[in-house]
Amino acid sequence: MSTKIKILLVEDDRNITNFISTTLEGNDYKVTTALTGREGVSLAASFCPDVILLDLGLPDIDGYEVLRQVRAWSRVPIIIISARTKESEKVTALDLGADDYITKPFGTAELMARIRTSLRHSRPATPDHIYRALNLEINFEKRQVRLSGEDIHLTQIEYQLLTLLAENSGRVLTYGHIMNTIWGPYMDAGNQILRVNMANIRRKIEKNPAQPQYVFTEIGIGYRMLENENV
Ligand code: CA
Repeated sequence: MSTKIKILLVEDDRNITNFISTTLEGNDYKVTTALTGREGVSLAASFCPDVILLDLGLPDIDGYEVLRQVRAWSRVPIIIISARTKESEKVTALDLGADDYITKPFGTAELMARIRTSLRHSRPATPDHIYRALNLEINFEKRQVRLSGEDIHLTQIEYQLLTLLAENSGRVLTYGHIMNTIWGPYMDAGNQILRVNMANIRRKIEKNPAQPQYVFTEIGIGYRMLENENV
């Protein structure tokens, strides 16, 4: 029985499928390729992949439709691979349930890192309840945030926001997703309340808030927190 991690690649450009398949197989993944969206949806069910890499521009149904159809029944991590660089398109894909995206052209190291992050989030982690990276430590059970061993005092909202990002460290969360999770359906079109709270968090945890080490802005999309080292 093969225990290799299975990747489904939905992509119609054969140069890219050859490149990605060779790279992943060289890293001991098992790869199956779908050249159309419909084939992708069908293989998502029959091949039972651990991760799906999904292109948006496909010859029949587009990547968004594949995403909708697969998400109707599956929680499998889906990483968008796309040459489309419009922020609104990335946001749409993330809000439809994609876990992450990677923009073409991308390097092997970046692709492998995104796949590892997605796999980690799809599997229940050992219940350690600690986030640790560089000098920052969050203890979710004690509701304690420490920077270089010193307690950091956060408001309730700041704490919720930081832990939401920490629990999803390494992946981007859209402004819309964060707003909905923390503030509920109340919508502040400019995300002003989110920005103010993020600025406050950065003043407390970042050495230089203009060049953050822990929480990165993905302009026009959302925030991504530095990957948890404690896994
Ligand atoms: Ca394409």
